[in-house]
Amino acid sequence: MELYELALRRAGAPSLQEFQRKEGLVPTGRPDAPTWSALLPWLKGYRAYRVVPGDNYSRIAARFGTTVRAIITANPNQDPLNLFVGQLLTIPLGFEVVPTDLPFTYELLLFCLEGLAARYPFLTLRPIGETAYGRKIQQISVGLGPRRVLYNGAHHANEWITTPLLMKFLESYARAISENGRIFGFSAQKLYQRVTLHLVPMVNPDGVDLVTGGLREGEPGWAEAKALSEAYPAIPFPEGWKANLRGVDLNLNYPALWEQARENKFAQGYDRPGPRDYVGPRPLSEPESEAMVRLTELIKPGLTLSYHSQGEVVYWKFLQIEVPGAQALGERFAAVSGYRLEDVPFASGFAGYKDWFILTRDLPGYTVEVGRGENPLPLSQFGDIYAKNLGILTLGLAEG
Ligand SMILES: [Zn+2]
Repeated sequence: MELYELALRRAGAPSLQEFQRKEGLVPTGRPDAPTWSALLPWLKGYRAYRVVPGDNYSRIAARFGTTVRAIITANPNQDPLNLFVGQLLTIPLGFEVVPTDLPFTYELLLFCLEGLAARYPFLTLRPIGETAYGRKIQQISVGLGPRRVLYNGAHHANEWITTPLLMKFLESYARAISENGRIFGFSAQKLYQRVTLHLVPMVNPDGVDLVTGGLREGEPGWAEAKALSEAYPAIPFPEGWKANLRGVDLNLNYPALWEQARENKFAQGYDRPGPRDYVGPRPLSEPESEAMVRLTELIKPGLTLSYHSQGEVVYWKFLQIEVPGAQALGERFAAVSGYRLEDVPFASGFAGYKDWFILTRDLPGYTVEVGRGENPLPLSQFGDIYAKNLGILTLGLAEG
């Protein structure tokens, strides 16, 4: 499904031509520039609106299928009792922004982040770096608390299902905060006051786009990746791609016994840039891993969750380092998710983000492997994955 089809579905339009007619546009049947700008609110989940005579929040809410509370949340500096004609308001539309039934491209991530930040202005959006192909590595933060946690997803391209997982959690959490509601039984407001959540939902946007179709044949990076993949004919292209577009496996690029990871992977035949398992020319050779290290050093999180797929396992250890409390919290993660708590197998136990975090911080850092089957996991697993991880994601805030 194309992005414009998602917009049409949300707008309730059976076809592009119908949508164009309804919007007073030329019914070309193609997503041309004017049509695209009319479709954007249906992707971002909000529109800008100028107050007309006779308006009040209830009337506006009814017109756009939203609620007065959602409008108040999106416009914290406006007084609903003193509207004036021509005043500009942000109107959240009456659906959830983050879709969970289509491949998550970088473009879709940007729409969702912009949409959530508009609907929930207490979210802060800040890129932390830029990939070799110019995509920004996005970070979004929420919370006022002195305790800090960092969640990340999609270090590995074909594990992109972890991006909508984190984004959906963010949307549910932001909504619960704004409605003074609960999330997994916890008061969202209390968590918001106590904890600051930093989220990097797509560490590897270049690689994700290759797998999800955001990057098409002929666009920068595609041919380079294809050429690298030819040395590994047994790995399907692009579905088997885990690395960034330079062929470096980002979760083997951290300075945590990187030389050991190199030895293991070279022995397995992964001794050059390719779809997976190449550790890079040196630790932190890649802008993505470097950005993650810089962010971590800046915000100093007390806990990190790194989301991967698949296996339904939580990994909590690096070497024999016994981080105080890490095993006990890992056991609670396992209990709320039904996942197993395990040590990392030797062959994949080095140079990952979690490894680096535990080694340098001596604080709890976990890798969570969601879902079951072959990567990329089908979106049909999304509901089950979300249900099993809501507890982990919330407990991470409460206990981190
Ligand atoms: Zn992974």
